[in-house]
Amino acid sequence: MELKKICVFCGSSLSGNEKFIQAAEALGRVLAGAGLGLVYGGATVGLMGRLADTVMAAGGMVEGVIPASLFSKEIPHPKITRLITTPTMHERKQKMYDMADGFIALPGGLGTLDELCEVLTWAQLGLHRKPIGLLNVSGYFDHFLQFLERACAEGLMDAKYLGLILREETPEALLRGFETYHAPPVHRWIRRQDR
Ligand code: AMP
Repeated sequence: MELKKICVFCGSSLSGNEKFIQAAEALGRVLAGAGLGLVYGGATVGLMGRLADTVMAAGGMVEGVIPASLFSKEIPHPKITRLITTPTMHERKQKMYDMADGFIALPGGLGTLDELCEVLTWAQLGLHRKPIGLLNVSGYFDHFLQFLERACAEGLMDAKYLGLILREETPEALLRGFETYHAPPVHRWIRRQDR
């Protein structure tokens, strides 16, 4: 599948960890340099804002999707290519999912995990075959990956689904992985319209 737009999930907080900020900026430059559009949560704040600022400064294309209810908290970005407003959080996630050809998670909190796990579970159900990757800066996602390995060891998750998650330490390596990615075969439990 040709990659045109990548959706990035990341923190609405900035974090005191300079490496996370640098990683958001590095990913922004790489996306813009590769001619890949960014789809994200539309915020000005946190790592999300830094990422969008960097893509725009590097001449790239940014589409933000934000529910009206979050305007006062996350502050819609005034200087991106296109801002899309949704009535609810669920429609935001649906819209970001529909628009993107692949998904990357940078460090973030519960919102980031929610968005990441949703696209993973949809892939596990066979609803899509889009690549999903973790930019594992400073091993930020190591414990998440260990948790999933435990779930497999306990018989609560099929180990083949670990193959749904690409993980790299640089954006360049992650995008190379996206280009050659073939989703592992999964049993299709439900139809897309039934999810
Ligand atoms: P966080 O990682 O918690 O800083 O959140 C990152 C992004 O996820 C922000 O744009 C949040 O609005 C969004 N978010 C927070 N909670 C949820 C949720 N339950 N479902 C979907 N997105 C969420």
